[in-house]
Amino acid sequence: MSEFDFDLFVIGGGSGGVRAARLAAGLGKKVAIAEEYRFGGTCVIRGCVPKKLFVYASQFSEHFEDARGYGWSVGESAFDWKTLIANKDREIDRLEALYRRGLENAGAEIISSRAELTGPNSVLIKSSGQTVTAEKILIAVGGSANPHASLPGHELCITSNEAFHLEELPKAIVIAGGGYIAVEFANIFHGLGVETTIIYRGQEILSKFDLDMRRGLHMAMEEKGIRIICQEIFSKVERGPDGRLLAHTSGGKSLMADQVLLALGRDPNTESLGLEAAGVKTGVKGEILIDDYSRTNVESIYAVGDVTDRVQLTPVAIHEAMCLIDTLYHDRPTSPDHDLIATAVFSQPEIGTVGLSEDEASKCYDELQIYRAEFRPMKATLSGRSEKTIMKIVVNSEDRKVLGVHILGHEAGEMAQILGIVLKAGCTKDDFDRTMAVHPTASEELVTMYKPSYRVKGGERV
Ligand code: NDP
Repeated sequence: MSEFDFDLFVIGGGSGGVRAARLAAGLGKKVAIAEEYRFGGTCVIRGCVPKKLFVYASQFSEHFEDARGYGWSVGESAFDWKTLIANKDREIDRLEALYRRGLENAGAEIISSRAELTGPNSVLIKSSGQTVTAEKILIAVGGSANPHASLPGHELCITSNEAFHLEELPKAIVIAGGGYIAVEFANIFHGLGVETTIIYRGQEILSKFDLDMRRGLHMAMEEKGIRIICQEIFSKVERGPDGRLLAHTSGGKSLMADQVLLALGRDPNTESLGLEAAGVKTGVKGEILIDDYSRTNVESIYAVGDVTDRVQLTPVAIHEAMCLIDTLYHDRPTSPDHDLIATAVFSQPEIGTVGLSEDEASKCYDELQIYRAEFRPMKATLSGRSEKTIMKIVVNSEDRKVLGVHILGHEAGEMAQILGIVLKAGCTKDDFDRTMAVHPTASEELVTMYKPSYRVKGGERV
């Protein structure tokens, strides 16, 4: 008989926490999982899933336009925001129920309450005031949007959380930030007919991506009518006499909007979690510090997902949780593998990418071969849409190993998933070259670029 109430107590019912709880309970461990809001976490409740549904909704305006070139006459169309929100909410309810059922079926005890640490092996369940003990505790509480509290008027702004529940579709929106969320929401709102402006502090949006993708997307977005202002930040946001918002920028601009959305990164949710009581150490951003096996400095306490600020992506949190279960309960110490993570930005067109950008690779390798193609996608021929697909393969000249692949274009996210396998397998450019093309597709370009477009030596194009 264990001296603890539970073998494992999980705090946080998002992607990482639910996976760990479900797997551990499935192994016969006595598991509890506490969630203060809704099961499914950021991804399901206010992130990836509703976002993707919004992306689909926003694409119809272009589909209707493109249809004409293919002989279709589309009647008058109208968009109803409230219908989208209601249908999206119904789908989120369904998914949340699935998450709960998965936990129940595995035998985990579900606790719908906030939980806080009170010691290395104890947790306070806030709703009941009860303290329970556990041999091991997993913190998987995720992160939350940076509120930019130093910005005068920040309380008038929304974050992505509220964007999913707006009462009305704004006529105009200004979005601060140049990362995933800013870019994705700019495309969503623009596609739904909203006058959209992005304001970004850096030289070019999406600072963590390959420069070709960043420039290509920037141009594509501007061509659609999205305004992008770089190298400026907000200095103040205020409400005008007509009730609309006025966002003032460092460059002296005043932008009028119905909503101002802040998409300035996400911070770990570690405040008031009882970390001090348990002796758990955190880093400068408040992230929980862990070792290679997701263990904190306290032997019985572990952390996975966004709260550790390693890579803030759903599949990464799930992978970290699965590795932890291997380590704890399968006698197989497994360190999460954060190398070569394929990712997508669901902009329009999408970006799909895996591996090193040209800039990153040029810092690590003596000489690179860059294969680059830019072309008009086939669908755009009859639709008449002026858009470009860009594909880029970064190769180490010495051994021909493919170091990175970057795509801007339709279904780039789907391609990135497959390319993730290819790069993980360590394929060389010669493997690409001897792969038969699938015709006619956009992705056939990836296996038919036989000659490098240019080389990069010592960081310079040659
Ligand atoms: P990102 O880290 O992607 O982008 C944050 C943006 O805010 C950057 O452009 C950054 O600029 C800017 N920024 C940060 N602080 C300030 C400041 N004080 N003033 C002005 N600008 C600032 O975060 P997001 O909020 O967009 O998304 C959060 C995380 O969620 C992402 O990192 C991603 O991992 C995940 N996510 C993934 C998605 C996907 O997989 N498709 C979709 C949405 C989110 P700079 O670049 O100069 O630092």
